[in-house]
Amino acid sequence: MDECSIISDLLIDYINRNLTREENSRVILHLSRCKGCFDELKEIIELRDMLNVQLKEVPEDIKATAYNMLKQNTQSLTEILESKSPLMAFDILSYALKPVQETLDVVALFI
Ligand SMILES: [Zn+2]
Repeated sequence: MDECSIISDLLIDYINRNLTREENSRVILHLSRCKGCFDELKEIIELRDMLNVQLKEVPEDIKATAYNMLKQNTQSLTEILESKSPLMAFDILSYALKPVQETLDVVALFI
């Protein structure tokens, strides 16, 4: 795996401040040198912020539906985590970057 793939896998945890000090330094160092990964980080943050805003504008009844979906998706996210697959981090990233409506609930986990 090249450094960009490794960093890409760490970006969501980086945003959520879930990395160890070593991982955090590694991400920051890489981001300072690599425009591709820096752009990816910006996209994830923009997506999160966009969904964040949308979340605040969602009517109550849809929020209730989204909450039910959130419970279901929490389960499937847990399944990804428990799979311990070598592609796990990639699965989580894909999972987090699905189209807006599908991720509305998932992104709530990252806020
Ligand atoms: Zn990179």
